[in-house]
Amino acid sequence: MSSKQSVLIVAAHPDDDVLGCGGTIAKLGKQGFAVHVAFMTDGVGARGRGKAAAADAKKRREAAQKACRILGIKSASYGSFADNRMDSVDLLDVVKTVENAIARYQPAMLLTHHAGDLNVDHRVVHEAVLTACRPQKGHPVRTLLFFEVPSSTEWMTPGSGPAFAPNYFVDISSTIETKMAALAAYKAELRPWPHPRSHEAITHLAKWRGATIGADAAEAFILGRAIA
Ligand SMILES: [Zn+2]
Repeated sequence: MSSKQSVLIVAAHPDDDVLGCGGTIAKLGKQGFAVHVAFMTDGVGARGRGKAAAADAKKRREAAQKACRILGIKSASYGSFADNRMDSVDLLDVVKTVENAIARYQPAMLLTHHAGDLNVDHRVVHEAVLTACRPQKGHPVRTLLFFEVPSSTEWMTPGSGPAFAPNYFVDISSTIETKMAALAAYKAELRPWPHPRSHEAITHLAKWRGATIGADAAEAFILGRAIA
């Protein structure tokens, strides 16, 4: 049995959740949904090993905890897959990690990465989620959404992966400020304009996605599956 009030975000790295659906998470929280996040990596593994990497991982974890508090996320779990190397692990191990999170939270709605992202971890997580969400009898997930992550989704070239053509939008006019406040916790991950992961670009994208649907700000998704 799914819990209609439970939502699960499956994100490769701490910050993908905020970038992809931070405004939606804050909105769902306000509406009474219990939002849980399962991160697959610590987000820093590929940058080196040793003390510096451990300190970076600690900082990233603290940033994630702060961002989760700001967004009203009920719980977060942290996987131990190597950052930017998820193509080197057995897909089945990733699937099992996602399945465990689904079994724990029984989410009616699950949000994760788009299949056509440039970042390999995003692509692996997308594939693992699809396998973990095979719509068999009794499976809790009824709605499956794929989000976009600036500096990964739009950096894939046409023909190299499926294009992000959104067909599901969430009006985040009332929560865009909360999204940007959560993003500020990850200031080490942000870059100066005109990088797509700059404060300006992320705001512009939210405004453009909003303009697409006649709202002040929005987040855009591809609907993977909805079971009514
Ligand atoms: Zn990422």
